[in-house]
Amino acid sequence: MSRIGFIGLGNMGLPMAQNLIKAGHQVEGVDLNPASIEKLKAAGGTSVEFAKVAASRADVVITMLPAGKQVREVYLGAGGIIENANPGTLLIDCSTIDVETAREVASAAKARGLMMLDAPVSGGVGGATAGTLTFMVGGSAQAFTRAESILQKMGKTIVHAGGAGTGQAAKICNNMILGVSMIAVSEAFVLAEKLGLDHQKLFDISSKSSGQCWSMTTYCPVSGPVPTSPANRDYQAGFTAAMMLKDLRLAQEAAKASGAKTPLGANAERIYSSYAESGEGARDFSGIIRFLRG
Ligand code: NAD
Repeated sequence: MSRIGFIGLGNMGLPMAQNLIKAGHQVEGVDLNPASIEKLKAAGGTSVEFAKVAASRADVVITMLPAGKQVREVYLGAGGIIENANPGTLLIDCSTIDVETAREVASAAKARGLMMLDAPVSGGVGGATAGTLTFMVGGSAQAFTRAESILQKMGKTIVHAGGAGTGQAAKICNNMILGVSMIAVSEAFVLAEKLGLDHQKLFDISSKSSGQCWSMTTYCPVSGPVPTSPANRDYQAGFTAAMMLKDLRLAQEAAKASGAKTPLGANAERIYSSYAESGEGARDFSGIIRFLRG
């Protein structure tokens, strides 16, 4: 069993760390929020005060932080992980961040002889709690092989996407599809309403026809057809509109930097930005249908 330093015990990080503890790993947690540390301790973990302490004692360091800025601070900052980790420590960043930062941190780690993976997830808090996350992993095959058994304790589907940064690339490409498809499905329901076509009838037809996709069949933005979708509970968030906007922005940054043409992705970013600005950023992203109705 490994000694794991876990930095960032928020909505996602805490249940992920709890699953590692359940699997018998020794988890030392770091977070700016003392309440999260207390919850980790209650689950059988221990606390360490600074990222550097966790890094210098751990076999593996996992980070689950809000954005690229915090990832840079924690890994590259003075007294940070890369400066303090023992040679041989495996570093796994599970945060969703920009590809550029992921590659820069991985390259700094490599320069110090440390193995590093970017391993963002999909599956939300439900998946983190149930241990059924999907991990999209970028980095060397050797680091991936070492990480696999640990990631399996937190997730069900673990895919090696390629070299450094490709995990983040997979995450933003996937979520760009999701943002665009949720708007497309919502627009179809809004048009159906205007044309006098019943929600359930459109669902029965499209979920079995060429319009079918996850946004229709699993996360349907109108109440009724899929009882577990947020539409049935006033769009209480599983995945917030603010998080969707964050990922669409990352996709647009990457598209600009790489010269990829993504007109629908760009439009989806604008639509989610207006939705979040309307005060609905904390609402589930499928609530976009209410915004489209006007
Ligand atoms: P969160 O805000 O709940 O948790 C982040 C935690 O990091 C907080 O507890 C915060 O105190 C801590 N933190 C921030 N800076 C720190 C620092 N310098 N040192 C130590 N701790 C620090 O966020 P979350 O929902 O857990 O998301 C984490 C990451 O996972 C994000 O990148 C997000 O985009 C991604 N993600 C989230 C979901 C989701 O449904 N919540 C799904 C997939 C991916």
